[in-house]
Amino acid sequence: MVKRLLRWDEPTLDGVKLRCLRRVVRHTCPQCGVGALFDRWAHLRERCNHCGLIYRREDGAELGSMYLSATISQLFAAAVFVLLWVFTDFGAWDGFAVGAPIVLAFCYGFLPLSMALWTAIEYLTDIASGAWWARPR
Ligand SMILES: [Zn+2]
Repeated sequence: MVKRLLRWDEPTLDGVKLRCLRRVVRHTCPQCGVGALFDRWAHLRERCNHCGLIYRREDGAELGSMYLSATISQLFAAAVFVLLWVFTDFGAWDGFAVGAPIVLAFCYGFLPLSMALWTAIEYLTDIASGAWWARPR
């Protein structure tokens, strides 16, 4: 059903998904792949400076990014603390002293990727629903 929304000369949705994900991992616009997603660390631009795609459409648009980041970070934290518990003989405070900085560094590093992935998810949702402004390139 989704593929019927695409014209015959447009790329398939699967191809668009892969291209879109590659672009956001490089922190570029999911639509054109040229414009930058961020103007500084973890600060999403309002729109693409090349094709005009609006990244931040309304207040709270990044709420999904926050949930994605929180979920992945909590899974990472659980993995770190389980690994420390299984493979070391650290006590609770030593484990916390070693694990907490690792988890905080991961959270800090993952935030832009989370925002980029959420921007891609919103863009792909717009394509699938046939939004007129979403034109895969
Ligand atoms: Zn763009």
